[in-house]
Amino acid sequence: MDRPARLPRTGAVPRPDVLERPVETLSGVGPALRRKLGRLGIETVGDLLAHRPRRYESAAEERTVAALFGEEEAVLDVVVRRASGRRRGRLHILTAHVADETGEIRATWFNQPWLEAQLVPGTRLRLRGKRNRFGFQVSSYDLGEAAQTADFAPVYPATGDLAQKTLRTLTDQALGLARDGGEPLPARIRSESSLPLRADALVALHRPRSEDEAERARRRLALDELLILQLALRRRAAERERLVAEPLPPAGPLLGRYREVLPFTLTRAQEHAIAEIDADLARSTPMQRLLQGDVGSGKTAVALYAVLRAVEVGRQGALMAPTETLAEQHFLTIEGVCAELGVRVALLTSSVTARERRAAHQLVASGDVGIAVGTHALIQNEVEFADLAVAVVDEQHRFGVEQRAALAEGRSPHVLHMTATPIPRTLALTVYGDLAVSEIAAPPADRKPIVTRWVTEERSSEAYSRLRRHLDAGRQAYVVCPLVEGTETTLARAAEDEAERLRAHELRGYRVGCVHGRLKAAERRSVMAAFTKGELDVLVATTVIEVGVDVPNATIMIVQEADRFGLAQLHQLRGRVGRGAEQSFCLLISRSQDELGESAIERLEALVATTDGFELAERDLEIRGEGQLVGARQSGLTDLRFTRLRADRDLLEQAKEVAGLLDDDSLLAEAVERLLGEAEHVGES
Ligand code: ADP
Ligand code: MG
Repeated sequence: MDRPARLPRTGAVPRPDVLERPVETLSGVGPALRRKLGRLGIETVGDLLAHRPRRYESAAEERTVAALFGEEEAVLDVVVRRASGRRRGRLHILTAHVADETGEIRATWFNQPWLEAQLVPGTRLRLRGKRNRFGFQVSSYDLGEAAQTADFAPVYPATGDLAQKTLRTLTDQALGLARDGGEPLPARIRSESSLPLRADALVALHRPRSEDEAERARRRLALDELLILQLALRRRAAERERLVAEPLPPAGPLLGRYREVLPFTLTRAQEHAIAEIDADLARSTPMQRLLQGDVGSGKTAVALYAVLRAVEVGRQGALMAPTETLAEQHFLTIEGVCAELGVRVALLTSSVTARERRAAHQLVASGDVGIAVGTHALIQNEVEFADLAVAVVDEQHRFGVEQRAALAEGRSPHVLHMTATPIPRTLALTVYGDLAVSEIAAPPADRKPIVTRWVTEERSSEAYSRLRRHLDAGRQAYVVCPLVEGTETTLARAAEDEAERLRAHELRGYRVGCVHGRLKAAERRSVMAAFTKGELDVLVATTVIEVGVDVPNATIMIVQEADRFGLAQLHQLRGRVGRGAEQSFCLLISRSQDELGESAIERLEALVATTDGFELAERDLEIRGEGQLVGARQSGLTDLRFTRLRADRDLLEQAKEVAGLLDDDSLLAEAVERLLGEAEHVGES
């Protein structure tokens, strides 16, 4: 009789706050476990329910001990005879002699010392695993009556110190509360499309009886997710309709000169995007356009065109980047061209003296500077523009930003958002909803696709000899340092040490520079400038070079411990090479395969298989491994937990339709608020 003495709740009496409760309200969760869950982004009961299994364990044959053979996965139903644990270095090995009526076998567990106390002789166990040299290696187990080793048991994205068992037990508890979340979809819509109840879908997602059932559940949850997105977009769009911008007159001679000054001819794709931007700028509603194009496709040239349109008529443009390094990089890229055009550009960073900063802000406020380059945070919160007309927002979260200062004056700038995490155009139109989309689908014609190879550590010397061959042929190279745990300072020190080590060994005799996030702005700029001018052969770097660095003569990159990086991040890093006509290479070095998690292997394989950012964005969503969850958000899309963009096109359509039918006070309203709030928050960070 462990049920509370109350009537079961129906979908009609939702208590959504129950899902907002912190995970500690579940039994067995203390501060240590809370921290581990936190690293996976799980803070509330609802987060736990939204932690989608990466896959399900496939069917495993139930066997008797005597009938076990080969390396096949099997399930055993046994009783414990005796158990004991020991340590070997950092490894804890727990061995239990277990038996059924046909025989006895030694079962082993690694690094689960606490289990020993529970393996009392006589305890009944269900074990799932494989035979190995020593007996039976357990991959999952049930003590007593629970049945988590069953077929289609969920396998969750997890970190090394968090067992699947723990996540399964906790989701079991959370599922008991799923009904409290309520049912956001009206019965009519549900029955028309024969959709399961949301609570049922959650149960089926975590505890499916078949792959089919799990997929139906996922689609129901994806629909809810897309619906929230659609509602948020509708709200945004409605707000924007009230805004006014000043239309710009058609492009004049400055833009003609810009085309002449560029060291290349704009491609058809670039010209097409420019034409779309021109049309937007002629209107009195502010431009809200997304320019998407893969890494290296040439978005910067288009962005600069857009801001120059403002400068040409005596108004101002802003270029906003997510980080200071990237802002600096943008500044270096456009400075030369702008100087030739006689356009004044200011770099606004927080890493200069207060006086210099005031001076720069003053120039922007007085209108003496035509283009301001800085981080989103800086430009939005600190800088007053005399007359901002066009803002370019690079790599910003899906919803982008509002120009508060400009809004206060009742006039909005035209905004161009740029992203290198592209998704197919038709999908982008739906996912981004209220943004118009331009796409640079093809890179400049002289490009050869980057060749990517994946080697394990023991063969890293071959990677370096290949790198040296490029250097000897007059090319330049990047070496990306491992992502170490810790602060920016730890990371910086590791990069410096690595550069030193390489100077003494693999790269002896070459000119090796090092950049990381702890360098003073001036130092960083001078190292970058030296590399750009060819005064350095190799740039050893942390991920500060992830975006924006542009040196076409750099044709090879080594990424150390590539398995630690996220897929989108690796794609961005790789985009630093392959920017000229020369064949470029990206060599990913990882630990040995058996040390890697499943998702790390999938990520590296995906990178070797394709350089297509669209495809990788999709794969990334599918794999959604450990690194992604812990790391920074690469794009707004990472918040789509259940949707599979390519497979779920029909759901996008359905969500659009259903969004029009829902009341404003539907259960989803709160989720919509939250989404809009978060987007705002990201915009400010
Ligand atoms: P993205 O920002 O899309 O990653 P960039 O704008 O940095 O790409 O451009 C990548 C490289 O391609 C740069 O070296 C740039 O100078 C070059 N580039 C841009 N447009 C063209 C073009 N039309 N023809 C040749 N090279 C180009
Ligand atoms: Mg760029």
